[in-house]
Amino acid sequence: MIPYGRQSLDQTDIDAVVEVLQSDWLTQGPTIERFEQAMAERCQADFAVAVCNATAALHIACLAAGLGPGDRLWTSPNTFLASANCGRYCGADVDFVDIDPLTWNLDAYALEARLEQAERDGTLPKVLVAVAFSGQSCDLRKIAELAVRYNFTVIEDASHAVGASYAGRPVGCGEFAAMTVFSFHPVKIITSAEGGMVLTNRPVLAERLQRLRSHGMTRDPQQMTEPSHGPWYYQQIELGFNYRITDLQAALGLSQLSKLDDFIGRRRELAARYDQLLAYLPLTLPSSQPEAESAWHLYVVRVQAERCNLSHRQVFEGLRSAGVGVNLHYIPVHLQPYYRDLGFAEGDFPEAERYYAEAISLPLYPLLSDEQQDYVVEQLRRLTE
Ligand SMILES: *Cc1c(COP(=O)(O)O)cnc(C)c1O
Repeated sequence: MIPYGRQSLDQTDIDAVVEVLQSDWLTQGPTIERFEQAMAERCQADFAVAVCNATAALHIACLAAGLGPGDRLWTSPNTFLASANCGRYCGADVDFVDIDPLTWNLDAYALEARLEQAERDGTLPKVLVAVAFSGQSCDLRKIAELAVRYNFTVIEDASHAVGASYAGRPVGCGEFAAMTVFSFHPVKIITSAEGGMVLTNRPVLAERLQRLRSHGMTRDPQQMTEPSHGPWYYQQIELGFNYRITDLQAALGLSQLSKLDDFIGRRRELAARYDQLLAYLPLTLPSSQPEAESAWHLYVVRVQAERCNLSHRQVFEGLRSAGVGVNLHYIPVHLQPYYRDLGFAEGDFPEAERYYAEAISLPLYPLLSDEQQDYVVEQLRRLTE
């Protein structure tokens, strides 16, 4: 089976991990800080806080934004569960804004309309999780304007978009979002096995994120309520978690980071090949928005059922039977039983639902060969013509 995504590891990655295994520090050692600094530099951000996964990163980013019971978090329905669940962890209400029919990202114009209404109703959100679906940022310029006008915090969920850029600057630079979250899960752009990170330019947020990832503890005398008792002393000044990443994982992440440009180069090349090879099939292909350069985590096509003999599901199953490990990103989050129990229903976000009825994620990862890709295209042609 050709998978839809997979990691690219080589001997230098393995050596980097082994080196840490032979060192004094398996966790909370110096490699974590090196990984954070390298990511911050790469993204032109002032601070980077590494954690055990992007779900944890989203959780503490929401807490750092002050999200709590009675507040509201809005996000796209076309995302992984974690982009919404982080609001629920904080006791906030979660709501969604429908997607743009072309980019499949949260629609900034729909957002504007919803905000106008919410202002009248007194139900404005405190946090917007702007998901960079498939590796391409949303219309962040417009979203940032709305954030100022309506006073909410933008957290970019850039789990798909490590190494992408927007308006000529790296995703994570903090120009359009207060915080940016990355995932280093093996199917994403670079991996640390499990791992996540929050980038920000705001010192107050960085300090809070560092504290929340480790039990709410501080060793900084300036944050303490009384003078230090001695060199052993620490204080817990709020309720935090153990969301730390290990030095082993950070070593892998750091080693992978040195290959980021190669990975993205190959992903772009493969995406351009799909664009060309699939152009005449009854499929809707991904479209780019002018300011965003995608990291190409996913290459999604939409089956134009009225032009095919087979249904979306038959095309999907036909590909799987032919050894093409396609996937579907995403089942609209509001249709999950957990969210239905909170009051959401079919028909709430029609663009995301229409998208769900047509979408297929094709194999895309740096080690996918041209020959494998040709095979995927051949199978798609056979099934849709
Ligand atoms: C993968 C992913 C996450 C969660 O990442 P983990 O590191 O697995 O916790 C969150 N949001 C999006 C959009 C993702 O794709």
